[in-house]
Amino acid sequence: MTVRPHSVWRMTFRDGPGGEDFCEDCFRYGVAVLGSQGQPDLTDIVESDFRQFWKEYSISGSGGVNQGTHCSFRYRMKAGDIIYAKSGNRIVGKGMVISRHRYNKSGKVLPRCLSGWAYFRKVKWEKNFAAISSSEAPQMFDPSSFHTLLRLDGIRLHELLSAERRTQKERDAQKGSTPKAQKRDVEEGKRQIKEIAFLSRNRAIIEERKRLFGEKCEVCGFSAEIAYGEIERDCLVGHHLMPLGGSAHARRTTLEDIVIVCPNCHQAMHSEKPPLTVEQLHEKLRFSWEQLHTS
Ligand SMILES: [Zn+2]
Repeated sequence: MTVRPHSVWRMTFRDGPGGEDFCEDCFRYGVAVLGSQGQPDLTDIVESDFRQFWKEYSISGSGGVNQGTHCSFRYRMKAGDIIYAKSGNRIVGKGMVISRHRYNKSGKVLPRCLSGWAYFRKVKWEKNFAAISSSEAPQMFDPSSFHTLLRLDGIRLHELLSAERRTQKERDAQKGSTPKAQKRDVEEGKRQIKEIAFLSRNRAIIEERKRLFGEKCEVCGFSAEIAYGEIERDCLVGHHLMPLGGSAHARRTTLEDIVIVCPNCHQAMHSEKPPLTVEQLHEKLRFSWEQLHTS
């Protein structure tokens, strides 16, 4: 089993900067929503065509949702990613994305909400999430980061996870939690710190490998830069050659442990168990993206 480097997002659900907040509705219906009334169904538009469609339909959300946000919501966000919901000066919810982006034809993903918010993803929101205040995680509320959707990494992510742990602990203490529950908190905290260390190291290794070997799939040669041009691109993933789940001791990932592949090749590698190696998949390739673009 390989661990996919999942992303963590902070998302605001609000009808315009001063508008109605619909976090509670999102939690109730198990969704994250984006867009506004009258927007066409663009769910099947591939990323390379999206900019053109955006222009044609002059899309802009009533909440000032921009093209970058739409692209992130459609193409960057993946099932398994985590969303923290921001409402005013608090983080009020946390959930896991469980579907691809979809379009609701009636424009009524949230029945109480007047404007449509027709684009959505299904999200499994955590029950009993302890809300995090702005004083606990100030970077979450920095005016420079007031986008609808913000990918969290590095210091922002670290700050948020620490704040989440502290807030949860305080709430448990107020409830008069048992030593057993406190022990569970400590274990949970340790696990989160390990996870952050793993994810940030993983990302650093992936970036280093891209710098050394080029930003393209090491199997088929797919290059997002050539395919998509200026559009924000970050679709290549790191495939772990040594299954991470199998090792009894924590190992440090090195440059040699990871290959950079496109999502298609990644899936193809995992079509067999154990996964196909780069060489094995390369032999099976009937078409190389690189050939196409050099011939
Ligand atoms: Zn590929």
